[in-house]
Amino acid sequence: MELQRNSDAPTIVKIEKIIDETPTVRTLVFSDEVLSNVLPGQFAMVWILGINELPMSVMISQEKGKAAFTVRKHGIASTELYSLKAGEQIGVRGPYGNSFTIKQGKILLVGGGTGLVPLIRLLTFLKKTDDVTLLIGSKTKNEVFFEKNGKSNS
Ligand SMILES: Cc1cc2nc3c(=O)[nH]c(=O)nc-3n(C[C@H](O)[C@H](O)[C@H](O)COP(=O)(O)OP(=O)(O)OC[C@H]3O[C@@H](n4cnc5c(N)ncnc54)[C@H](O)[C@@H]3O)c2cc1C
Repeated sequence: MELQRNSDAPTIVKIEKIIDETPTVRTLVFSDEVLSNVLPGQFAMVWILGINELPMSVMISQEKGKAAFTVRKHGIASTELYSLKAGEQIGVRGPYGNSFTIKQGKILLVGGGTGLVPLIRLLTFLKKTDDVTLLIGSKTKNEVFFEKNGKSNS
């Protein structure tokens, strides 16, 4: 069952862990029971205090009750989000959006950059017996990330 909360008011969460994925992409992990349970493909609105609010796909975390965002530094707001340190706070609203139809059998997933986030979450919803291929697109080799997530779930 999907957990609900007032989607008009941001919930303040504290960044607990930061994972460097590439020189321009980071994953920020935080505790939030609602976002830890979202369906693959859903997103949250992330309030970077004093700057702006951005839509971000909700990434998986291996730990129960934890959620994460994987952000590429780009414009002002995403660069501010990318630059936050562990212990600093963000506001989250949501989840919003629809999920994928979960299929079974032989499955091909194709994505690139932070567009991979919903696909990595989708991997955790597929059966171990499914024959899954994940194709990762990237401008350069240095910008490839989530390779391990793909291998461990395929
Ligand atoms: C449903 C949804 C989910 C999203 N999930 C993620 C996510 O998981 N991780 C993430 O990092 N971002 C995600 N985004 C994109 C994110 O919301 C911001 O648009 C992005 O972080 C840039 O915001 P900004 O304000 O820093 O840059 P802006 O000031 O908005 O952009 C600066 C310039 O960069 C261009 N630009 C912005 N984003 C991109 C891009 N991705 N590729 C090429 N050019 C671009 C803009 O057109 C503009 O010219 C998602 C967007 C949507 C709608």
